[in-house]
Amino acid sequence: MLFLVLETSECPVHKELTKFYCRNCRCLCCASCHKYGSHKNHSCFQVHEAEEKERKALVRLQTQVEQHGEKFIKARGEVQRTIEEIKKNTIEVKDIARRYYRELRAAIDQGEKTLMEDIDKRSDAKLKVLNEQLR
Ligand SMILES: [Zn+2]
Ligand SMILES: [Zn+2]
Repeated sequence: MLFLVLETSECPVHKELTKFYCRNCRCLCCASCHKYGSHKNHSCFQVHEAEEKERKALVRLQTQVEQHGEKFIKARGEVQRTIEEIKKNTIEVKDIARRYYRELRAAIDQGEKTLMEDIDKRSDAKLKVLNEQLR
């Protein structure tokens, strides 16, 4: 943001507009200073160029921020989807469990009934034999 606050003014030596920024001296200078003056052979570039670089850096930064935002929104969406899936799965799993226990209860009831009938049959058979012995 440094470059954005720098304003071109007149060079006190050459009376030219200070359109250049000297990296070495961290100040503005004019074209003549840059070409053959006190900033000769210094790393200078035109201010509008510096602004352009700064602007591009800002755009890049903004893009990064936006991408992070998108990632966040995407991640939020994924979390939301996972929550919905878990809710759905919970209902499905409960249904399966309910069905399983219903079948299990039916099987137990059936087993109990069969066992009772079997006991009765054996008992009846034994009683029949014993009764016949009494005769
Ligand atoms: Zn100058
Ligand atoms: Zn300089």
